[in-house]
Amino acid sequence: MKLPSTRGGGSLCDRCVALCCRYFAFEIDRPRTRRDFDDIRWFLLHEDAAVFVEDGKWYLQVNRRCRALLPDNRCGIYESRPAICRAYTPRECDWHGDEYDYDKLFVDPEQIMAYAREYLAARRRRQAARRARGRKTPARPGRRGARKLPRSSRAVAKGRRARATGGVLKSA
Ligand code: SF4
Ligand code: SF4
Repeated sequence: MKLPSTRGGGSLCDRCVALCCRYFAFEIDRPRTRRDFDDIRWFLLHEDAAVFVEDGKWYLQVNRRCRALLPDNRCGIYESRPAICRAYTPRECDWHGDEYDYDKLFVDPEQIMAYAREYLAARRRRQAARRARGRKTPARPGRRGARKLPRSSRAVAKGRRARATGGVLKSA
């Protein structure tokens, strides 16, 4: 991704508009039920929220700039910036746009519900096919049914995405 230069300095961050300081993202449960999708619809009803899928994992992204970001795109709390920012490096950062080849990207509630309708219909077809196969196969005597593990019905944040924020070469 080619970005406009904001300053003529030597480091990559000096030529960037602090892309990595303008959002945060964290992993959420992969939706499987109507309720799970409804939770994601709720996320997307909020301004500046997006949900994306990358390498099979689902993430909630909130596109809001960090409060510590200065008007000249430098970090206003560089010496005490959070650990996640310290760990972030420009080697494979948001500057390198090709990293953001999302599998899926949802930015509004209609998109996720359209996807949900297709996903749930395909799931019902798979379940019906399994049931039909089951009716043809006689049950083995003495075999116990597999127990289902309980699953949270709400989308729960599991943790932060390692590259969510950063800007290690910037200083105020
Ligand atoms: S680390 Fe952040 S500020 Fe530096 S070049 Fe990458 S996206 Fe821009
Ligand atoms: S480096 Fe971290 S604390 Fe500083 S402006 Fe960026 S996101 Fe905020």
